Amino acid sequence: MFQKQTYIGRFAPSPTGPLHFGSVYTALASFLQARSQQGQWLLRIDDLDTPRNIKGSVESILSTLDTLGLYWDGKVAYQSQTLDVYHQVLEQLALHQLIYPCICSRKTLTQRYNGRCRYQTIDLVLPHAWRIKTDQQRLSFKDVLQGSVSECLSEQGDFILKRKDQIMAYQFAVVVDDHLQGINQVVRGYDLLDSTPRQIFLHHVLGYTLPSYMHVPIIIDEQGYKLSKQTLATAVDLTQPESLIFKLLTLLKQNPPNALKEASVDELLAWGMTHWNPAHLQGCSQLTIPSA
Ligand SMILES: [Zn+2]
Repeated sequence: MFQKQTYIGRFAPSPTGPLHFGSVYTALASFLQARSQQGQWLLRIDDLDTPRNIKGSVESILSTLDTLGLYWDGKVAYQSQTLDVYHQVLEQLALHQLIYPCICSRKTLTQRYNGRCRYQTIDLVLPHAWRIKTDQQRLSFKDVLQGSVSECLSEQGDFILKRKDQIMAYQFAVVVDDHLQGINQVVRGYDLLDSTPRQIFLHHVLGYTLPSYMHVPIIIDEQGYKLSKQTLATAVDLTQPESLIFKLLTLLKQNPPNALKEASVDELLAWGMTHWNPAHLQGCSQLTIPSA
């Protein structure tokens, strides 16, 4: 008999500042999605883009999750501890001529990469990035909330796995890590939906099992801007964790009953797990943060 596969989900913030309202929204969604299925919820710090990392962020992220009762399973994983594996995977891809070095500068590139370096011999002494060869094939997948998504990768061109500044590209590292950690459901913000076809392509090329994807709405402010570190979204206010979770459950369209307004963090999360129904977010790509 087949045994139902254990759900393994994750939350993977970058240590580029404290968690803001939008990031805890996504964290709670992925937590509830995992816990409502008796699944594991792993925490991974996506810390490869070292110039963007901010000291003290990891401590701040961990303590925020702790305050909100969002306890993760096992040890915290760090992408920076997987560098050897990324290099091994790159070597394998190079060996099979699935990737090639690219010396183009950002200035000479428009949105779509035209494959300039794909058919040239590149002197590896020059600073170079590594790109993967894409093809004409159309990639389609069904997002749990956003429905069918389809894209032909050649529309964007061959994409980068390792940047010229030696930093592993997000697309690549995330796929390798999700595979290493056995992640079988990815819950994350709608802003990353675009990158999913490229990641699915990588999963195929590397022979990894594909996780399922669920992209939850992003939170925008009243001016219509996405809350992010770039828009200087401030650290989420933790003075009243109970009311914060109530507010998040409401924004997750779970309709928590008013009686829960007096509940503790643990009671709120327990209610959230029992009543979790992501279908309420079907087709929703963004939500406006209610003013305090
Ligand atoms: Zn190039």
